[in-house]
Amino acid sequence: MPTFDDSFLAVLSALRDRYGRPAGLAPAEPFLAVAAAVLAGDVSPQKAISARAAMGEANFLDPATLAAADAVDVAEVFRETPLGLKHKAIGTLLRLARWLSERDQGDEGSLADRATETLREELAAINGIGRATADRLLLHALRRPVYPLDRATYRVFVRHGWLEPSADYDEARGVVERPLANDPPGLGGFATLMELVGREFCRVGAPRCERCPLRPWLPETGPVDPSV
Ligand code: SF4
Repeated sequence: MPTFDDSFLAVLSALRDRYGRPAGLAPAEPFLAVAAAVLAGDVSPQKAISARAAMGEANFLDPATLAAADAVDVAEVFRETPLGLKHKAIGTLLRLARWLSERDQGDEGSLADRATETLREELAAINGIGRATADRLLLHALRRPVYPLDRATYRVFVRHGWLEPSADYDEARGVVERPLANDPPGLGGFATLMELVGREFCRVGAPRCERCPLRPWLPETGPVDPSV
């Protein structure tokens, strides 16, 4: 059976035929504005821009100012935006601001020289940030070449036999990242395509393979059960 690496270009082409070419990554915005969008579950350019405008007015793009702010005041700033940042996410955003303000220079410039692996460990150690969210921050806010592995991607990969159901997070992430190594916009675009195919066809219960653009890459015996 062909591996994901063997099939990658044809898979990408089939997904683009169906969904077009996703933007990849939003235009660069301040770390804390993109972080707010990531924590709101929407990394579209509009959300990061909206967060930047609201946070900039309150000087909350400055890590030390945001870290010292009261959660109620921060919630007030986001209330008029379309971000819909929940109370729990605001707490996580404040912890992120604290983390950033404690870097050597106290701003996002201090992150530039740090290894991706070091940053991933530090981010994932912050209460409220799981491994996928840490990778989403690395990709969208810091433009590091990592893939934030979500459940949809995992289902697609296991069902096609590109991934063992027993694979752990980092192992699975490595399989997805390999053909797109050092291409952050490519990784961002592929993540969007996986989200779309997962939502439309590769659902949690029964996959809808009949009309799915990835049907040609199914194993001869049909989709592998991801719960096995
Ligand atoms: S062909 Fe079936 S298993 Fe493959 S991605 Fe589509 S719905 Fe999922």
